[in-house]
Amino acid sequence: MGVTVEILPLLTDNYAYLVTDAESGAVAVVDPGEAGPVLARVRERGGRLDWILLTHHHGDHVAGVGELVAATGARVAGPAADARRLPPLDRALAEGEVFELGRAAARVIATPGHTAGHLCYLFEASGDLFCADTLFVMGCGRLFEGDAATMWASLSKLSRLPPETKVWCGHEYTLANARFALWVTPDDPAVRERAREVERLRSEERPTVPSTIGVERATNPFLRPFDPAIRRRLGLEGASDAEVFGALRRAKDGFKG
Ligand SMILES: [Zn+2]
Repeated sequence: MGVTVEILPLLTDNYAYLVTDAESGAVAVVDPGEAGPVLARVRERGGRLDWILLTHHHGDHVAGVGELVAATGARVAGPAADARRLPPLDRALAEGEVFELGRAAARVIATPGHTAGHLCYLFEASGDLFCADTLFVMGCGRLFEGDAATMWASLSKLSRLPPETKVWCGHEYTLANARFALWVTPDDPAVRERAREVERLRSEERPTVPSTIGVERATNPFLRPFDPAIRRRLGLEGASDAEVFGALRRAKDGFKG
């Protein structure tokens, strides 16, 4: 058993997710950046919303919370470290804790870097990882509140999860990320094939989530700072993984693709 996941595209390129525990029917929404489309879908499905699960304090992930609480009575869970910058939390979570959604359970993984308090949630029974703005498909979040070493440590934690783990991230940035990955490793066959697949999905207006940890390990340059081809490309053969990661992140920040 475990959870089922429904994708809710919000705002320009955000993804929220409706997560349902198959056994109890309990429902959570992850990162509602606006209320309207979430509420409409919840009502279509019968009106049940037990929890609002937040990964970090950015407005495009939390702006729908107040209206959803008022309309459904859902409780709110999110990072204890960012409680002062979040809507009021009924449950404040930290690294290593377990969040219960009905009979399903999510392990809480602290991933500082994009923001200081950013959390990811792993529903282990079904292998569903909600990683918001830490790990994107073929990319990663910007470093707003952490240095390269901090973010690399966070991404390394996610990279060590089982390869079949499904990656549900916070934005549809994959096409731009694929162009950057091709700039970094133009000759990598796995990256080229994945870029073609992403182009096809987006030309059909389909989401590129979920990816998997295994696919990301093979095709996401931000999980591969040890890759000799990436190090050659950046002229950083002797650098540490965190240094190569930092150089990749800076190159992406300035990339016009
Ligand atoms: Zn963010």
